[in-house]
Amino acid sequence: MDNCIFCKIIKGDIPSYKLYEDEYTYAFMDIANDIDGHILVIPKKHVTNVLDCDNATLHHVADTTKLISNLLVEKCGYDGVNVLNASGECAGQTVFHLHFHIIPKKNNDGISAWPKLPGGTGVEATYKKLKEMLDK
Ligand code: AMP
Ligand code: ZN
Repeated sequence: MDNCIFCKIIKGDIPSYKLYEDEYTYAFMDIANDIDGHILVIPKKHVTNVLDCDNATLHHVADTTKLISNLLVEKCGYDGVNVLNASGECAGQTVFHLHFHIIPKKNNDGISAWPKLPGGTGVEATYKKLKEMLDK
């Protein structure tokens, strides 16, 4: 897609710290410099986010996310990862080409990459609505 910064990165029109690519996916360092090891995994096919992504493309992104995550834990001294995605502006998405963030984590690193949520009104309402639809 012409105006998409991540499509430009895949094409090489914009430089990136490329870690890995295969036929379907591309993984590179996030330039936010907010935590060491922040990595993005994207599909080469332009899709906006999880909501419009076909299953095959999503599987490829998941495969590459697992590959990099395992490498971080097995070979780079990390103990785990947060894998984060924002799908939609309301969810905090700022680049509208699907991407999974990988945030490497160490035990007792004192860093929370998990959102602080405000507390809900109970699980029942959403549960009933979705369950009815899924049971049809
Ligand atoms: P999100 O807010 O989930 O859409 O995340 C977009 C991410 O893309 C942010 O973490 C940005 O730091 C990152 N980003 C934007 N432009 C670039 C770029 N040229 N190279 C690497 N990461 C980028
Ligand atoms: Zn794109």
